[in-house]
Amino acid sequence: MVGTLNLYFDPNLSLSWREASVLASKAAGYGVYHARSLRSWIHCYLTTKKLPLHHYGQSQSLLEDEDLSQAIQLHLQEISKSGYIRAEDIVDFISSPTMQEQFADKKLTITIRRARHWLHKLERRYGKKKNGMYIDGHEREDVVAYQTGFLKHMEEYFRGCFHIILVTHDESTFYAKDRRKNQWSHKDNKAVPQAKGEGQSLMISDFLTSEWGRLVDGDEEARLVFKAGKNHDGYFTCEELLQQVDKAIDIFEGKTQGYAVGLFLFDNAPSHQRRALDALSARKMPKGPSNGWTHKKGGPKMCPGVLLNGGFQGLYFSDDDPLMSGWFKGMEHIIRERGLWPDQGLNAQCESFKCEERRTDCCCWRVLFMQPDFVNQK
Ligand SMILES: [Zn+2]
Repeated sequence: MVGTLNLYFDPNLSLSWREASVLASKAAGYGVYHARSLRSWIHCYLTTKKLPLHHYGQSQSLLEDEDLSQAIQLHLQEISKSGYIRAEDIVDFISSPTMQEQFADKKLTITIRRARHWLHKLERRYGKKKNGMYIDGHEREDVVAYQTGFLKHMEEYFRGCFHIILVTHDESTFYAKDRRKNQWSHKDNKAVPQAKGEGQSLMISDFLTSEWGRLVDGDEEARLVFKAGKNHDGYFTCEELLQQVDKAIDIFEGKTQGYAVGLFLFDNAPSHQRRALDALSARKMPKGPSNGWTHKKGGPKMCPGVLLNGGFQGLYFSDDDPLMSGWFKGMEHIIRERGLWPDQGLNAQCESFKCEERRTDCCCWRVLFMQPDFVNQK
């Protein structure tokens, strides 16, 4: 408080009230929350002539003690390795003799309610242990190259003079027997048998915008509800997505009347394509052109590839091709179009798909397999 006032009244500094409090707070190793407290304590002192009592009854002020906060964080880090953090863990930890002794001056007591509050304060949310799939491979060379290209494109888009509105697409599948797999429960609770399997599923595919939330225009919406499965609407494929995108673009254009440009972003995570029959896959692709080839016999044509520059590459010759109308192009042609065909040529694949480790250019299959658009769909 004195620090704040000294800074504030220093004629050489001409700091604002807020700036003075933040500087004083930072100098003492605290942040903006503490600065706000400082300001209100000073106001309180000026009006009541009473100094604030340092009682640590309030959870925030207790957590502001960095030693204590750090001790809790470390402890949580330790136990989170085994998967779960429960509010009870904090209670146990705070009540432990070691902690009680170490922070004897603070007279630590804690309730479950406060522990839960602290968990949120410490930016932890209770839940199932996250699996690592979203991190896997993010540092891989080809993925980094893809990301770099992506960022460059984004930069170019935003450098233009258009008013750009981001439109993101995502989909989510809900299961009839979805249930919370975690709950704040007492450790003595008995396990109750639960039905196996996930049950009927419903997929929701929709667009969000940076300006208006969901992409809707009056009653019109692009949202698609899809019952996946062979007895229902089939599977959500590129075909359906393209139709939905068409509709989304119509809605977007109707809504903006040309004053803005929509930049559509799609999540290409593998989990999103696991049901798509037309997903890109280099497996079983013939090396040369082939009439009527699809990945699964009688299945849909494979969806177009996505090049590093954001363009699409159809994997089939166009319908008006004079010689091979609608034929599958074959791996060689696809690789040639990507400018990756080596002078000495390539075999379709190494023996039994056993490529030499770390090689990325030993065979057609490996080359395509390492392409970002294929990687993202394995
Ligand atoms: Zn190979």
